[in-house]
Amino acid sequence: MRAASTTAGEKVIDQLEKSLGLPFGDDERAFLAEMSEWLDEHVPSERAPRRGSAERLPWLRRWQATLAEGRYVAPAWPSQYGGRDATFLQQMIYFAELDRRRLPTIPGRIGVSLLGPTLIEHGTDEQRERYLGRLRRGDDLWCQGFSEPGAGSDLASLRTRGVIDGDNLVINGQKIWTSTAMNCDGVFALVRTDPDAHKRKGISFVLVPLDAPGVDVRPIRQISGDAEFCEVFFNDVTVPLGNVIGSLNGGWDVTRTTLANERAVLFLSRQLALSGTVDRLAGMARCVPHRAGTRADLPAVRERLAKAWIDVQLIRVNGMRNLAKVMDGATPGPEGSMSKLFGQEAEQHLHELAVDLAGPVGLLAPGSDAAIDDGRWTTGWLRTRASTIGGGTSEIQRNILAERVLGMPRDPWADEGV
Ligand SMILES: Cc1cc2nc3c(=O)[nH]c(=O)nc-3n(C[C@H](O)[C@H](O)[C@H](O)COP(=O)(O)OP(=O)(O)OC[C@H]3O[C@@H](n4cnc5c(N)ncnc54)[C@H](O)[C@@H]3O)c2cc1C
Repeated sequence: MRAASTTAGEKVIDQLEKSLGLPFGDDERAFLAEMSEWLDEHVPSERAPRRGSAERLPWLRRWQATLAEGRYVAPAWPSQYGGRDATFLQQMIYFAELDRRRLPTIPGRIGVSLLGPTLIEHGTDEQRERYLGRLRRGDDLWCQGFSEPGAGSDLASLRTRGVIDGDNLVINGQKIWTSTAMNCDGVFALVRTDPDAHKRKGISFVLVPLDAPGVDVRPIRQISGDAEFCEVFFNDVTVPLGNVIGSLNGGWDVTRTTLANERAVLFLSRQLALSGTVDRLAGMARCVPHRAGTRADLPAVRERLAKAWIDVQLIRVNGMRNLAKVMDGATPGPEGSMSKLFGQEAEQHLHELAVDLAGPVGLLAPGSDAAIDDGRWTTGWLRTRASTIGGGTSEIQRNILAERVLGMPRDPWADEGV
């Protein structure tokens, strides 16, 4: 058993070295070998229930709890909070290995990636004690309540109000595009607590239980037929002032940690997943019949696949540039915007290619017997329309690149102090 796991672990290391384009040191090899061996023993033998089925979320919560027992939910967190003090490189290995095994994303990913690091950096000991363990195990699922109908790209324009009443904060307003809110236990929200201050100075970062009286969560139906995000309304919702993370009115600085984490780790891991996608598409082209051969024989298909492969290499190289900066202790610069812009557009092109390759069968939705890969490419094609909007639109990334790389004048619409 042990010899077999070691061999499998070495194979994993070779594959990952190839896809990341980096030679691993002893620490990385040891990290991956241990993780790989642990996963061999703990990955459930039965597959995750189908998307949309009632059994899926409880299954995923159990899977998150299992990962938490092995300290594999948040390897980047300090070990005192159930992490592994993983380096940036180890985190990339971690996500690449989960993707290589096609393991489903944990349901608490938003809380683990965004709220957890925020609490570790800005929370009090009591807040860390109260929330971190539960969110790591998936006992509590959290969503991000930042955007509002009038505040997206210009987030600091948000209008949801929080008024102090004794030891409490009374919240009124509306959030929108709150991903996964319908499945969550709480929302980390930005609310305006000082309307007279400069717009970035009067905002607080507050934890709000979604079962609190006055909270109304309404799912938004998307083009794909799914409802993955919601509107969240607050009508006189009362929470203790102890739910504010960081200082009152200091929420903008707290948010910067949250957004920095969102951009760095989540994004890099998603990009790593793209190289696997090109391999899967090449495999699909070899299987889909066309005249006497398969679609892989068509020059136009081969050209598009080659372009997709080149795109992924460019994304990887740019990701490496970011990584090198972070490992040198520097703050990532506009390379992050380059990765976001190019990576998300490449993700859209990959899904367009997949749907084209599948031909008429590509139109079948999940659940149809003849659908390729259970219709994931079709829903992926629809879902990736949103990729160039969420987390900062492509236009905003282009503004950043124009200003910070090309030295163009500042966007006249952006207000000062960003
Ligand atoms: C899949 C998905 C998941 C999301 N999940 C969450 C979540 O969990 N929590 C959350 O808080 N939010 C979430 N969002 C919201 C997301 O952050 C916003 O949609 C995004 O910031 C854009 O804001 P907006 O939709 O208000 O568009 P707007 O900011 O109103 O922009 C509208 C259009 O104008 C363009 N534009 C705006 N300003 C400029 C400018 N200065 N220069 C040039 N063009 C400009 C934009 O590029 C866009 O094309 C999610 C969005 C998506 C698509």
